[in-house]
Amino acid sequence: MKRKSLSSFTVSVQGKTLSFRRKRLLRVTARLCLLSITILAQLTLAPQPFAQDRRTSKSGAHSSTPAETFTPADRRLVERAIGATCAERIRDPLGSMSIDEMQARPSLPVRNPDAVSGARRAERLLPTTRTLVVNAIVQLAKEYDLYGTAANRARINASTARVEAVRRVKPDVDSRDNASVLLREPRTIEFGTIFLAGLRSDEAMISVLAHELTHIASGEADSLRPLFRAIGRRAGTRTGLRIQGQRAEELACDLVGVMSAREYIKQTPSWEPLPRRLARAVEHNCVDDDESDEDHLSPRNTIRALFALDVEMAGEVLNNGTLGVFPISPKRTPLRAILLTASTCPS
Ligand SMILES: [Zn+2]
Repeated sequence: MKRKSLSSFTVSVQGKTLSFRRKRLLRVTARLCLLSITILAQLTLAPQPFAQDRRTSKSGAHSSTPAETFTPADRRLVERAIGATCAERIRDPLGSMSIDEMQARPSLPVRNPDAVSGARRAERLLPTTRTLVVNAIVQLAKEYDLYGTAANRARINASTARVEAVRRVKPDVDSRDNASVLLREPRTIEFGTIFLAGLRSDEAMISVLAHELTHIASGEADSLRPLFRAIGRRAGTRTGLRIQGQRAEELACDLVGVMSAREYIKQTPSWEPLPRRLARAVEHNCVDDDESDEDHLSPRNTIRALFALDVEMAGEVLNNGTLGVFPISPKRTPLRAILLTASTCPS
């Protein structure tokens, strides 16, 4: 998953040779981005930029990126959608805790009721999310022109097979506000108990599960590298942000997360306003402390890049609670829907 800002508390308990920030970066990124302990040890001794170390030799078929159609009006829409998303998080009873808020919390035992409920949610949603991720990866491969040849299709199929093989979510106290996967053990997603407790909706949980499943999809073979690069390139062009190397992978994993959550929303009609449900896919990035690191865009820039990649979704988030293009359950009373709508207009 993502990582970023650093609390002063943790600074006081971290060590000496490396700055706190460096240490945390190494620890967290290794967990999240699947390096072996051996490589981590090497990095600790030789603190060169981390993202470049993770993957070394990738040949890489450059994909042809579709023509740019991102206008100044789109840019303004994206900015408004960020504001609406983060306002919605505050109003939503099931709104996610922001990442910086999670980081400031004390560790949660595995038996904490909120962590238990989060773990159950994750286990329940894992099978659905696997399917959503497989579909999203194929969709992206087609969109970025990386599905046209037999070799490309074989690469994508190998990726989706790895996703299908994931079987378990393992709660972990020490992972705190992180989720991670180890490519050496690609059937388990390790999930910090703070993170389990902080994601209070199905939409948020699917988004994070899908992120981790996408790391697994790429796997030790780095199969999705060309796709990650193409997504990073497009997002970089649209936002002016530098999105290469590991940053591109992390963003692409987030994009699959958002697409999966959005598809889930389509498949599970609800009386809840569409903007609220969509916001849940990204709102854990609504931080006050908006720091980036070498491997990740800052949380708010992550939302920015995601909406820039999916302007249609940004428009849906701005739909002022009028239920957008997705249907609501006809069995629900219209009065309730109207009341909810009236109380959830984003600024
Ligand atoms: Zn990640």
